[in-house]
Parts: sequence; structure tokens; C-alpha cells
Amino acid sequence: MDEDLLSKADVYDVIIIGGGPAGLTAGIYTTRARLSTLLVEKLGIGGKASITDRIENYPGFIGGISGPDLVHNMEEQAKSFGMRTVFGEVTRIDFNDEGNVKKVFINNEPEPYQCLSIIIAAGNEQRKLGVPGEAEYTGKGVSYCATCDGAFFRDLDITVVGGGDMALEEAIFLTRFAKKIYIIHRRDRLRATKILQERAFSDNKIEFIFDSVVDEIFGQAMVDGVKVRNLKTGEKEGLDVNGVFVFIGLNPGLSFLGNIVKKSEDDYIIVDKEMKTSREGVFACGDCCKKNLRQIVTACGDGATAAFSAQHYVERIKGEEYV
Ligand SMILES: Cc1cc2nc3c(=O)[nH]c(=O)nc-3n(C[C@H](O)[C@H](O)[C@H](O)COP(=O)(O)OP(=O)(O)OC[C@H]3O[C@@H](n4cnc5c(N)ncnc54)[C@H](O)[C@@H]3O)c2cc1C
Repeated sequence: MDEDLLSKADVYDVIIIGGGPAGLTAGIYTTRARLSTLLVEKLGIGGKASITDRIENYPGFIGGISGPDLVHNMEEQAKSFGMRTVFGEVTRIDFNDEGNVKKVFINNEPEPYQCLSIIIAAGNEQRKLGVPGEAEYTGKGVSYCATCDGAFFRDLDITVVGGGDMALEEAIFLTRFAKKIYIIHRRDRLRATKILQERAFSDNKIEFIFDSVVDEIFGQAMVDGVKVRNLKTGEKEGLDVNGVFVFIGLNPGLSFLGNIVKKSEDDYIIVDKEMKTSREGVFACGDCCKKNLRQIVTACGDGATAAFSAQHYVERIKGEEYV
């Protein structure tokens, strides 16, 4: 926690929930607008970008940049303008207050942090397979992060489950370590960007198993294999692998919000083009919003817009708006 944190009795201009690319960009913009800003992060600064080895599609970095380096720079940049950070999970927000003050509760503590505006930048979470053995072997061969765990699988056979950008990017990264990688995908073609498909198809360490799903992960102390079922033929086979990397999509993890802002059927936050939610003084940005393209560059763009809207809201309720 930053040493110069205001006490919980003080009222921040903005509290940002989530320290991924969206939240950090919002922090750069709110602090440069001289709004007192507290960012709350439950895990580690950087969000999902911090577990991505190489980002090739963030503009300005020919040849790419490592995810951890990119988000470290964003964090330092926001801090250099005065953003404060506290580690903890936002568990509740209370709006039933006078004077526009909103209360943000962390780790179920009784005493909240207070603010005039909130920017939700809570991202989303990787989807689980939901098959027997997955929970039991998580950390024992089952992983959701190639950057974190890839090196444990040097010269071993592994499987990557999924057919989108995340699955192919991570499988290509894992070729540095693994002997053989089976990519298991439930359909007969891939959703991933063409350049990633070309790289994966031309890599002789990678073999595709199409039209198939993993029914079970088994082993003893560690993973020894998976049971694979072909969806077209119904045929089942065991595949001997020591690692299972799951990249089958993302789900929002916004239960702490309850019904305080309007959400879509699939539980993402609905925002307008200014990143305003259905609740006055509450803005949202990045992967937690209902939108088509969830990437770092779009998260950053959303973060800047949300901060700009929060700035105008705060200045308006303080009677300082430049009109
Ligand atoms: C494996 C993988 C590879 C990817 N590769 C690329 C790529 O090459 N290029 C690209 O542009 N994008 C890539 N992406 C997507 C990119 O990482 C995301 O679009 C981006 O990180 C979204 O940023 P965000 O800030 O909206 O959300 P996130 O990065 O998800 O950050 C949200 C943060 O909020 C925190 N949080 C959530 N709930 C709470 C709470 N209640 N209290 C406090 N904190 C909370 C989380 O801990 C997290 O740190 C990849 C994603 C994955 C998973």
C-alpha cells in the first residue's frame, strides 16, 4: 500500500476498481486532471496483460513488448502523476449516501474508502473447463497462464484447449519449452487471427485435434493425461500429457456490483460511448464492459474516455466545470 494514502475519512475524487490496462490508463488521465485518485487491485497490478509474454499488437512497439514491461510502465506513469494504490478486493459499493459520496468496501472490512466517482475496470476472468480433475490438478499440471507456468513443462508433452487468439498465442509461446503441444478445439476451424493460425500450422511441435473436447483430466500426484471425446464420431481416447493449458474464453467477475449498474444478459456492464453506466457518477472501461473487441489497446482507450467523463462529473458536482 502507498505510504501517503489518505485516510478512509477522506473523500477521493475517483476510485478506480482494477489495475489492468484500463484502470491504469484511467489513472494516468484522472491524475493528470489533478483528481485525487485511488486504484484498488485485488491480485497484482497489470491484470491479464501481466500474464502475457509478448504483446505484438499494441501500437508503438515494433517486434512487440512483454506484457509485464508494458503494464509496469503504465503503473509507473500513473504513479508519477500521483495515483495511489491499495491492494484488496472490492466486495461491495454503497450508493445510499447524501452529498454524492460513494462508499467502496474492500475485503468485507466495515470501514469503506469514500469517493465522488467510481471507474470500474475489473476486467474478466478466464473460463474453466468444468470437467472432473480440473480443480484437483490446478497447479499440478492444469494452468491458465503460459507465461507463469510454461517453464515447468520443459521437454514434456502438453495440451492447450481452445481455438481463439489466446489459445494460439499461448501455444506458440509454449513451444519454447514443451516437446509436443496438442491443441484441442471443439470445432473444425479456428477463431484465431490468421497470422497466428499460419504460425501455429507451420510449427512442427504443434498438432491440432479438431471437433473434440476434454472430458476429464487424470493423474496421480500430477497430471498424467486427458480423456478426449470427438464430438462428431463420439469416439473417446486417452491422451498422455503432463500439462493442460486452458484458454477457452472469459467470463465477467462482477458479482460485487450486484444490480447497481445495468448489465447485459451475459453479465457485462452496459456503457454508452462516454463510458457512463446506468448509475450517475459510475463509469466503466475495458474488458468488463459489453463490447466486441477485448484487447489492451481498446481497454486503454476506454480507460481514457472513462477518466475524461469522471473528470467532468466531479468538476460538475464540485461546481468547477469548465463550460
Ligand atoms: C492469455 C492472454 C493473452 C492475451 N494476449 C493479448 C494480446 O496479445 N494483445 C492484446 O491486446 N490483448 C491480449 N489479451 C487481452 C488483454 O489482456 C485484455 O484485453 C486486457 O488486459 C484488458 O484490460 P482490463 O484492464 O480491462 O482488464 P484486466 O486486464 O482483466 O484487469 C482487470 C483487473 O481488475 C482486477 N479486479 C477484478 N475484480 C476486482 C475487485 N473486485 N477488486 C479489485 N480488483 C479487481 C483484476 O485482478 C485485474 O487485475 C490477452 C489476454 C489473455 C488472458
